[in-house]
Amino acid sequence: MATTELTGAEDVAWDLSDLYESGDDPRLEADVGEAEDAAEAFRERYYEKVSTLSAQELADAIDEQERIESILTRAIYYAHLWFSTDMADSERGALVARLTEKGAALDTQLLFFGLEIADLDDAAADALLVAPELERWHHWIRSLRKFRPYLLSEAEEKIFTEKSVSGVSAWGRLFEELLGAIKVPLDGEEVGFEEAISKLYSGDREVRRTAADAITEGLEPGLRTRAYVFNTILVDKSIDDRLRGYETWISSRNLRNDTTDEAVQALIDAAVSRYGVVQRYYKLKARLLGLDRLAYYDRMAPLADDPSKVSWDEAREIVLGAYSDFSTETGDIVERFFDESWIDAPVRENKRTGAFCATTVPGVHPYVFMNYTGDRRSILTLAHELGHGLHGYLTIPLGLFNADTPLTTAETASVFGEALTFKRLLALEEDPRKRLNLLAGRIEDSIATVFRQISMNRFEDAVHTERRNQGELSLERFEECWLETQQSLFADSVDTDGYGSWWSYIPHFIGTPGYVYAYAYGFLFALAIFRRYELEGDSMVEPYLEILRLGGSKPPEELARIVGLDLTDPGIWESGIDALVEELDAAEALAREIGIGVGS
Ligand SMILES: [Zn+2]
Repeated sequence: MATTELTGAEDVAWDLSDLYESGDDPRLEADVGEAEDAAEAFRERYYEKVSTLSAQELADAIDEQERIESILTRAIYYAHLWFSTDMADSERGALVARLTEKGAALDTQLLFFGLEIADLDDAAADALLVAPELERWHHWIRSLRKFRPYLLSEAEEKIFTEKSVSGVSAWGRLFEELLGAIKVPLDGEEVGFEEAISKLYSGDREVRRTAADAITEGLEPGLRTRAYVFNTILVDKSIDDRLRGYETWISSRNLRNDTTDEAVQALIDAAVSRYGVVQRYYKLKARLLGLDRLAYYDRMAPLADDPSKVSWDEAREIVLGAYSDFSTETGDIVERFFDESWIDAPVRENKRTGAFCATTVPGVHPYVFMNYTGDRRSILTLAHELGHGLHGYLTIPLGLFNADTPLTTAETASVFGEALTFKRLLALEEDPRKRLNLLAGRIEDSIATVFRQISMNRFEDAVHTERRNQGELSLERFEECWLETQQSLFADSVDTDGYGSWWSYIPHFIGTPGYVYAYAYGFLFALAIFRRYELEGDSMVEPYLEILRLGGSKPPEELARIVGLDLTDPGIWESGIDALVEELDAAEALAREIGIGVGS
């Protein structure tokens, strides 16, 4: 393993003992056993009886189901978190596998309950939905019933769930392991994927080009296997959708996201029609870098070379300051993540790549996972994941079911927290060149979150549609679809030669098909709220926190109304993109002011 520069994050490891002491903590086994027993008793008590329950009895039953699922979810979360910091440890992998099986078995036991609720005739359901005893579960019941037209018989659903262990989730796990094993041959050593990717942020074009070539080389082993896994996921999804009667490959995702095919199409059309913004920025960037045209590996290059690393302590101060300035309450909550070891920060051998926040740990605070490298992106990633952490923390009182947010609102607090932190970073910087650099970084993040995700959605759309209409895709076809959708985004502003295999390291395509547009949806939604906060100031703090506290207990449309936004207004998507254009105007003005890249 290559030596990584020290950031002070090396010892910032999380303490998972709020979940369990260790993988062989007897409490873990006891919990699993209790969940299994309770699930069996639950089935005995309620199977084929849901339609006979009174409102109060149904409320009690839902409470009990939530309790059972919370117990096992806690164990499963522990296993995943424990595994993510050392993926080479077979004991940890085995626990994940075993608990995944237990989880599927439990889901199988409890499956009938949701199906029977979904199966209630409308008159009976309407009567229950006005009963005060069930008020807490209104949205949950409605959400269950919206899948009604797409559910199969219990026997069929049972086979689906049980076979998923050896089917779709096994393929997902294989893909994750293949990604985790990727080593990049760089400068005579083998480095991890994260570290190689971070070289694309270097100010030295040769370093970026070398890193990009090395990444392409590192992606090569297993590429055909990963393409095969992707093909399998594509066909699996097409079978699911056909049997269930979903209209398009994305329809089930949209329904799950509490949104509609029409709203998502409006978002996609809005973004695709504004691809020109991206091209305008990349042309400005080429001028600023003194290049004729950007190559794909130049997109993340800093405008002013800044090799300095931000220490963990400094990052903590910046991020914490941003959250504290917003409100004392948010500052206090975020501070606990640092003080009480709820974060795992350093880059470590055999650690999973990327960053995430485990927000739905029933009855326990969330945990934040990341690979802190000390660059600007790392600070904003920290701010991002802590936004999720804040959101998850505020929804603990809601319990497992109501805290769970659809993907469309899951990114609200993370994007908002990033925006707050960005403002602080900009305010702390006086050097105009560095300000331009920061602004450019912000624009690039917006491009990555909105336009890149939409272009990746176009890639997914292409391959899912092609798999359905023409059959299995060759590796070459994946590359063609990838390059076509990326070139449509960049037009002539970026050279994509050599970029063909880079679709193959994006886990969302495999683990959560259709996921990526939710970033754009959530980002533009959060940005709309943030702009309102900038406009109206502190009077927006409480309404915003109210949105977070409601978790997933209300549909996004209702949440948006709390801050006076109408999600059915297509202007929502446009206004977020207009914000990006304003930043681009500001960056161009700043470039003119300091006299770089002018008139060339
Ligand atoms: Zn996120």
